Amino acid sequence: MITAGHLIAGQWRTAGDRFGPVFNPSTGKEQARVPMAGPEEVDEAVAAARAALPGWAETPAVERAQMLFRFREKLVAHAEDLARTVTREHGKTISESRASVQRGIEMVEFACGIPSLLMGQVLPNIASNVDCETVRHPVGVCAGITPFNFPAMVPLWMFPVALACGNTFVLKPSEKVPLSAVRLGELLGECGIPAGVFNIVHGGKECVDALLTHPHVAAISFVGSTAIAKYVYEMGTKHGKRVQAAGGAKNHLIVMPDADLEQTARAIQAAAFGCAGERCMAGSVAVPVGKIADPLVEILCRQASAMSVGPTDNGATVDMGPVISREHRDKVAAYLDVAKNEGATVALDGRGKGGGDGFLIGPSVVDKVAPAMRVAKEEIFGPVLSVVRAGDLEEALSLGRNVPYGNGASIFTRSGYAARQFKHHFNAGMIGINVGVPAPMAWFPFTGWNQSFFGDLHIQGVEGVHFYTRQKTTMTRWFASAAESAQDPIWKTGK
Ligand code: NAD
Repeated sequence: MITAGHLIAGQWRTAGDRFGPVFNPSTGKEQARVPMAGPEEVDEAVAAARAALPGWAETPAVERAQMLFRFREKLVAHAEDLARTVTREHGKTISESRASVQRGIEMVEFACGIPSLLMGQVLPNIASNVDCETVRHPVGVCAGITPFNFPAMVPLWMFPVALACGNTFVLKPSEKVPLSAVRLGELLGECGIPAGVFNIVHGGKECVDALLTHPHVAAISFVGSTAIAKYVYEMGTKHGKRVQAAGGAKNHLIVMPDADLEQTARAIQAAAFGCAGERCMAGSVAVPVGKIADPLVEILCRQASAMSVGPTDNGATVDMGPVISREHRDKVAAYLDVAKNEGATVALDGRGKGGGDGFLIGPSVVDKVAPAMRVAKEEIFGPVLSVVRAGDLEEALSLGRNVPYGNGASIFTRSGYAARQFKHHFNAGMIGINVGVPAPMAWFPFTGWNQSFFGDLHIQGVEGVHFYTRQKTTMTRWFASAAESAQDPIWKTGK
């Protein structure tokens, strides 16, 4: 059985006294084990990162960028193998895994521009003989705590930018999917990253708590569910760290009566059932406005029931793979009973689809959902699409005001007015117009709102660079002696 190793000071370690199982969701079988770190291992990893910090922070930004260019080439060369690892431990289809690896590589490409991104500002002669400049310094040892649903991409949202800025890093991947993170660590090691600059510790709450309270961790990046994001934010800031914590979501997809029905239905199908609904940008509530509701639900059910569902690790092509665990599959399935009991109509029931021992469940559509029902409010994080019918645009917009989240939302329409109203007024931080999953790419920030994000500076884009740096402002005054003034060519000629 493979054991995922901790990476501390450039050494891989598989020893430990406690281990957790790593499943292959396609087969339902344990495929590896992961050591669960406690405060001791965390302390060692942070000490290694701290020891490596002065050397790495002083490495010229151009050389740090060259390291990232090498890493980018490694990732491209091993993209297929990395995508297969993602599929084996997460269960998403191989094409979904390939796309997620590509999104991660783009983060490295963004980070390769660090010499330009780090440039400061200067104003000579801000006062007589006084120059002023602001430059960016690394913040120190940074930690990243990541969720199960994007085993390679979400770690790549964090550490390439942090390292490019001159920080050292400790990654704590989801204990459910540690293998992709290990592969990233191996590939970075092959690029010649100095020992201790990038470290990995595996584990759960105990390991996270040790990072959140460690006196030598300066910054925490977190992605996961809202309850834990809030906890991480509160605990981390209480211990003096800067924290960016992205949480869960419940994303609305509004469909106006003038939308292109076929294209919209295809986009909603991909948004709701792509990655088996395990995406923070998954479309989970369709909101058809007016008369388009009946034909939309009809076509969505038809399309979804035709989707093939099965194991993804055996080379077969399926439309949807398993969810992450048996418990999660059962939790997702139970929401269909919750919906029925609350008075909604289960228009398509995906339970029992897929067969085998994997954690499979087919796509489901729940119609005639009222905004107060649990399936309209809670993050299900599985292939269940709730349909809340609205009478007009205003009613559709008001739905956004009453949910705690605020990650993404989309509208499908041919009307510029409706699109503009939606863009301006819907209570979410990432907006799609005729786009089902409006997830920004590496160069733009991932701007969740409300309970979908805790902090100030978001992950990705220039905000990421700002998160991983602190500014220093220098005022300089040089007095000229009388003799120097007399020598100055400008003053001498009086020009
Ligand atoms: P999770 O919150 O259960 O776990 C995330 C991380 O927190 C893991 O590394 C886990 O080990 C750790 N953790 C779990 N329980 C903890 C506790 N009690 N104390 C301290 N640490 C703990 O999330 P998940 O199930 O792995 O991932 C799915 C969630 O992530 C969904 O809610 C999804 O919406 C969210 N997500 C959000 C974004 C975003 O950008 N907003 C992106 C991807 C996923």
